[in-house]
Amino acid sequence: MEFALSEADTAFRSDLVGFLDRELADGWNRSEHGLGSAVYTDFSRDFVHTLAAKGWLTPHWPPEYGGGGQGAWQHFVLGEEMWKRGEPRGPQYMNVNWVGPSVIKYGTEEQKKELLPPITRGEVFWCQGFSEPEAGTDLAALRTRADRDGEDYVLNGQKIWTSYANEADYCFLLARTGSVSDGRNGISVFLLPLRTPGVEVRRIDGFVGEHSFNELFLTDVRVPGNCLLGEENKGWDIVRRTLAYERVGAPRYARAALVLDGLADWCRAAGLLTDPGVQEQFGNARALCEAARVLVYRVIDERAKAKEPSPMAYQARAAMVQAERAVGDLALDVMGSEALAEQSPGDAQFRNSLGAGIAAGSYEVQLNLISRLILKLPKE
Ligand SMILES: Cc1cc2nc3c(=O)[nH]c(=O)nc-3n(C[C@H](O)[C@H](O)[C@H](O)COP(=O)(O)OP(=O)(O)OC[C@H]3O[C@@H](n4cnc5c(N)ncnc54)[C@H](O)[C@@H]3O)c2cc1C
Repeated sequence: MEFALSEADTAFRSDLVGFLDRELADGWNRSEHGLGSAVYTDFSRDFVHTLAAKGWLTPHWPPEYGGGGQGAWQHFVLGEEMWKRGEPRGPQYMNVNWVGPSVIKYGTEEQKKELLPPITRGEVFWCQGFSEPEAGTDLAALRTRADRDGEDYVLNGQKIWTSYANEADYCFLLARTGSVSDGRNGISVFLLPLRTPGVEVRRIDGFVGEHSFNELFLTDVRVPGNCLLGEENKGWDIVRRTLAYERVGAPRYARAALVLDGLADWCRAAGLLTDPGVQEQFGNARALCEAARVLVYRVIDERAKAKEPSPMAYQARAAMVQAERAVGDLALDVMGSEALAEQSPGDAQFRNSLGAGIAAGSYEVQLNLISRLILKLPKE
């Protein structure tokens, strides 16, 4: 397997880095603001307009839907550089990584024409309404209902941990259209405009920062039948694909490796870098970042070759969590009480690593999937 970037992709990275150095010159860093905070989302709304104008928001989408027709690697280089800088696209990384691609794959022409252009222009935020109070890891236990009523659906239920719902225009929402006993066979995906009457968004403050999460309450929310994505009761196939994209959508190792560089500078200045124990911790954390990078590249290689997503995404995700955790632990160990100061690099990294191990399916869930699908171990 050859992972050297093409000349064109290398030139793209270099242009992009120059652009980001200029655009984010004021030291922009998400960790100072917090996911979902007004300052973060306001900044990203402006920033993605600039990206869209350069054709750098959806370069990998087909031209007929407003994309640049570029390959998976260019898109991935973009993600790596964005994530290193604290993801200045904000929630737009969901739009471009998996919301849009799901609409491209499963949507009707009418849905594509209506929903994709505003994403490529950077005009809309989407959020993801999957988790419920009793359905996180066990997502197939979700209870939010969507019942047919003539040409419409009527939605009732509750979602939780919905990042960015306070700012979003649409929700990529899972609801039950069959009975609870149908499990994953009775679930459908809805493309729900959040300004629809009956939708209430309530704030939850969390460890990721100010206004990081929300609850969504849906009470008799009436939507037209064309809000359904794909076939009724076949939403699980869409979700599996969506999650495979989400799991590697944020190249977490890239940011963790930069934090590690910063920690090395800090240790050098503090005279700690000659300590063999500290050196070993650095070596271990660096190796985990590199391992995660290579495993993620294998997934992107599959995508570049237009293969169906494979279980390698679970390995890549688990490796990214390990890398984030190793860097977070190192920061806490070497920086001591300085790493406890809120939003210090140590504190920010520790919070990142906590989130990484839960969002998009917890670390334990990735391990379960690896044992079943890759190692072929028995369930019990
Ligand atoms: C930063 C962040 C952003 C998020 N954003 C969103 C969002 O935008 N939209 C959305 O829908 N959700 C979002 N979530 C929610 C996330 O998807 C859920 O928290 C996650 O799926 C876990 O579900 P839960 O919280 O109900 O935990 P539970 O499912 O109750 O799990 C609790 C613990 O038990 C372990 N566990 C559970 N079952 C098993 C098992 N079978 N084997 C081994 N261990 C198990 C889990 O690993 C976990 O450690 C976000 C979460 C985070 C941290």
